[in-house]
Amino acid sequence: MLLEMENVTVAYGRIEVLHQISIGIDEGEIVALIGANGAGKTTTMRAISGIRPLSSGSIKFAGEDISKLRADLRVIRGLSQAPEGRGIFPGMSVRENLDMGAYTRRDAAAIAEDLERVLALFPRLLERIKQPGGTLSGGEQQMLAIGRALMARPKLLLLDEPSMGLAPMLIQQIFNIITEINQQGMTVLVVEQNAQQALSRAHRAYVLETGTVVKSGAGQDLLHDPAVKAAYLGVA
Ligand code: ATP
Repeated sequence: MLLEMENVTVAYGRIEVLHQISIGIDEGEIVALIGANGAGKTTTMRAISGIRPLSSGSIKFAGEDISKLRADLRVIRGLSQAPEGRGIFPGMSVRENLDMGAYTRRDAAAIAEDLERVLALFPRLLERIKQPGGTLSGGEQQMLAIGRALMARPKLLLLDEPSMGLAPMLIQQIFNIITEINQQGMTVLVVEQNAQQALSRAHRAYVLETGTVVKSGAGQDLLHDPAVKAAYLGVA
């Protein structure tokens, strides 16, 4: 397993919002985490990236226990996140935003190679390379957030609600790119409220309800699971 979360509990102050969550991600997989508003998806992401401390449980990444490792050191180990709400630096150009993604790296030649690869993946970003990040459309900002995360050359790409606020066609486009990145070898964890897209693209998925994993399985199986359909796919 590339990432192994075991019995992870996270609290905000005294309020426990994740209860003994266990999630595993194998190399080469797209794994989706779905759930309603407030189920704890973002908190799970924060626990993995190191922004929220664990109350108990452990997280192993590439064989190493990272449960207490600082967030910036996790980035160096190969965990890179495109956060919810994108987190673009609005006053900085597209190029500068992408450069920020590589801030922990010193390998100039490989960084240049990755920049080329990201711009090939997102031609729209190349067209807007000098434009301030804040002037991009929502879809373009999402592309920039993913591109910036890729600039860290991660082993595991963490995507928090990449479809948020986007029109259906753009959602389709973003998920096409996620699939393409995965086919190029990247392991992906995607947190999504858009269960339909997430489940149809993911190899495996976990369903989170009020801070507990209530179900997991192959994306395709969950897509056809009656309870999942009723709760998350708007099908009676
Ligand atoms: P959303 O899709 O709305 O982002 P989510 O599934 O990502 O939902 P979280 O954001 O992880 O859910 O929130 C899980 C629970 O933790 C919610 O009950 C939320 O109110 C609570 N919570 C989140 N952030 C904080 C915080 N900074 N302080 C206190 N409680 C918080």
